[in-house]
Amino acid sequence: MDYRYLAKATSQWWESYDKAKRLVRISFSDIISEALELGEEINNDTLKLLDKDECILLPFKFVVCGTCGGSGTHVNPSIDSHGITMDEWDSEWSYDDQERYTSGFYDVQCYECNGKRVVPEIEKTRLDKRKMELVRLLEEHMQDRIDAAKERYHEVKMGY
Ligand SMILES: [Zn+2]
Repeated sequence: MDYRYLAKATSQWWESYDKAKRLVRISFSDIISEALELGEEINNDTLKLLDKDECILLPFKFVVCGTCGGSGTHVNPSIDSHGITMDEWDSEWSYDDQERYTSGFYDVQCYECNGKRVVPEIEKTRLDKRKMELVRLLEEHMQDRIDAAKERYHEVKMGY
């Protein structure tokens, strides 16, 4: 599956972030109910960290977006996610098309950072045990989303 489509499925793991305070707000309402449904035990002190909207603020730092490499844009995956072979490039692409491709004509705003070039990353080294438990739940949730996105992609490809 193309990494750009995958980025689209997983980029929104946070609700909002405060640049000045370096705090990212994450909602756990779905994550907690899913985990409890699966029979996971979550410590009560951990749950108490969440506010009335089941959100928490965690410290974060910005890292260069891995999907666009910090450029803020990438080629629209509908153009080249299947991989362009040299044959296609030479025989099916006109000179104008080639020009457009290399000059960024087919570029779209990055699916992960939405053109911001950087993305927030939780600063795990600054978290205690309880907060780390929440991060672990978040990471499991995101992995599930990745798996689900891959499965859907596979199904569509197979024509189900
Ligand atoms: Zn990006």
